[in-house]
Amino acid sequence: MKPSRFRYYRAGSLQEAMDLLSGPAADGKLLAGGQSLIPLLNLRLARPEALVDLNAIPSLSYIRSEGAEIAIGALTRHREMEFSAVLAEELPLLAEAIPQIGHPAIRNRGTLGGSLAHADPAAELPCVLTALDAHLVAAGPDGERVIRAEDFFVGFYATTLAHQEILKEVRIPLDRRPAGWSFLEFARRHGDFALSEASVLLFTEGDGDRCTSARVVVGGSVERPVRVKGVEKLIQDEISLSTQAAPLADVLRRTEQLAETEIQSAIAGKENPDYLCHLTGVLVRRGLESAIGRWRKT
Ligand SMILES: Cc1cc2nc3c(=O)[nH]c(=O)nc-3n(C[C@H](O)[C@H](O)[C@H](O)COP(=O)(O)OP(=O)(O)OC[C@H]3O[C@@H](n4cnc5c(N)ncnc54)[C@H](O)[C@@H]3O)c2cc1C
Repeated sequence: MKPSRFRYYRAGSLQEAMDLLSGPAADGKLLAGGQSLIPLLNLRLARPEALVDLNAIPSLSYIRSEGAEIAIGALTRHREMEFSAVLAEELPLLAEAIPQIGHPAIRNRGTLGGSLAHADPAAELPCVLTALDAHLVAAGPDGERVIRAEDFFVGFYATTLAHQEILKEVRIPLDRRPAGWSFLEFARRHGDFALSEASVLLFTEGDGDRCTSARVVVGGSVERPVRVKGVEKLIQDEISLSTQAAPLADVLRRTEQLAETEIQSAIAGKENPDYLCHLTGVLVRRGLESAIGRWRKT
């Protein structure tokens, strides 16, 4: 099928894109990599009257190390992030997740801002950026505002972004380097959207051997990224570098069970809820095991 008719505007700057959204393209949609929007247009699941193409705004595409933060422009392609030495060094959790997004052809075109604004529950970036406590910068007619990733995703393909707002940048704090990390997902075939996924970050203070805090976020099986805070507390209370094999196995088992319990209500109503709960619990347990393994190697 072909899309229904739309007017096409190519914005040369962020300001021009905002002016278009407030004027002649008020009933339109932004076009970034097109990897989600174009299939929706072709299937006529979306029928915007106008498209505002962001691809001629190169100033929206960058990865910058800015002291205590990494700043990534919204138009940065997944592929640029995949091969970024800065991200590999500073944000290994993000670097681990990106190659799991679709296939190379998708990653060549798809953008950070498009993935976040689209808010597919099965996408990798919302889950990982929630774990990393990223802050999203949105530009709109009333100026800019900063939204924590945790508050940005509100439901199935739903965010707090207003129609006339444009995602401009994502800022990821580097104040606490994780001692261990892991991103795991389960998809039926490599490159498919994940049925479930789990991001795990472990933190310590200085050279201490205790895990002083953890961030564990699950996605895919739920409508938006969900922090499993009971699991985070269990890890913080019970995991240290010196935890022996038998007590560690016990904590891992309880982690899996707790993750299943914590997400039960978020999964209720889905097809095969018991399977999805179990799958998510297993991913959280394996993710924690992998994160601890990395911590022990450092
Ligand atoms: C076969 C296939 C497999 C895929 N597999 C995966 C996968 O495994 N994991 C995954 O995460 N994704 C997957 N994707 C989607 C891909 O990652 C997309 O790149 C991403 O979802 C959307 O990014 P985009 O830049 O292409 O956005 P577009 O398709 O251009 O836009 C998507 C939406 O975001 C809005 N938008 C875009 N940019 C902005 C902005 N800066 N500010 C505000 N709104 C904006 C658009 O208006 C539109 O509503 C897959 C896609 C395909 C076709």
